[in-house]
Amino acid sequence: MSGLTLVNASVVSAPGADPVPGSVAIRDGLIADRPDPDATVVDVGGAVVTAGFWNCHVHLTEPTWSGAGHRPAEHLQAGLDDLFGRRGFTSVVDLASRSSETLALRRRIEDGELRGPRIRTAAEAIRPFRGIPFYVRDEVPWYLRWAVPTPATARGGRRVAERQLAKGAEVIKLFTGSYVAPTRVRPMRLDVARAAVAVAHAHDALVFAHTSDRTGLAVALEAGVDVVAHVPDTTEGTHDLLRKAAAAGTWLVPTLDMFAQTVTRDAAYLDPIDEALRVFLDAGGRLLFGTDVGYLRDHDTHGELAALARCGLGVAEVLAMLTTDPAEAFGTGSGTVAVGEPADLVVLDRLDEVTDLARVRATIRRGRVTWGQPATS
Ligand SMILES: [Zn+2]
Repeated sequence: MSGLTLVNASVVSAPGADPVPGSVAIRDGLIADRPDPDATVVDVGGAVVTAGFWNCHVHLTEPTWSGAGHRPAEHLQAGLDDLFGRRGFTSVVDLASRSSETLALRRRIEDGELRGPRIRTAAEAIRPFRGIPFYVRDEVPWYLRWAVPTPATARGGRRVAERQLAKGAEVIKLFTGSYVAPTRVRPMRLDVARAAVAVAHAHDALVFAHTSDRTGLAVALEAGVDVVAHVPDTTEGTHDLLRKAAAAGTWLVPTLDMFAQTVTRDAAYLDPIDEALRVFLDAGGRLLFGTDVGYLRDHDTHGELAALARCGLGVAEVLAMLTTDPAEAFGTGSGTVAVGEPADLVVLDRLDEVTDLARVRATIRRGRVTWGQPATS
């Protein structure tokens, strides 16, 4: 494989680093200290080059992915481009989908047939006993409900976590609090959650929790989950627990725009969610970027970026959520533009404000352009 050299770039090597004019050399899928003499040279015309983005909350559940094992490549490629490529994502975490489709899609990407991100999947989510959420119930026909893991006992929790990992899941998703009706949350039993977490951690897999409210958050923290997948949107009584989560080093994926788009834009609902996020941040809590795309039909990242800016986060903080923080959470590389790192990169028009992180011109994974046109036209 001959390399690629991006010249005339404004390189932002890490969150908070000053942009440095120069070039980025890529060799054998890695960032190199000097260009391959045979490399293709691309002039990016002063565009910003930074590390590839992570979306730590996606779902590969839209109709696009059904039959992912045999659908024509062009069809799947268009879906991957729209969801991930044009948004700058080189790594995504799928927090529940149909594993047969997702694993087939992942295989076709890793085989090089499709251009897409590194997918880490939870496969099917694990829900409380009799705890299928009301908003999913309609999408899951009755004859498929047996496939939804809803363990009633610790032994069951252990078994379903083992089954998900055995079939190819790399993370575990627990609904420690599940909205069984619009105003009723059913928590997962603590012993069930603990059993699933123990299995995941024995396999070095992170556990993500959908908590919904105070009780679901308490179960998640007691069980030792690694990532809270949304700010709990029933925020009453959550502030002390969020401070505890921050102190314990539990990560949080805010998904602020999902609440606005799928529930209501009413300030009486959204303001307490923003406030809960600020409580977590003020206590030193750390965030991962995620949009819940797939459940959310709007694929653009602009709304989530704007919501994070509204909560007071700046460019460096949001870039860290997109790059270095998930790399740290998953223990994979540094998430920076540095020699020896995988050449997972994003080319942006500019980077003056948080929403500029949506102005993606090209996405490069392992040295291959997966979407867009890095060159100036
Ligand atoms: Zn979700």
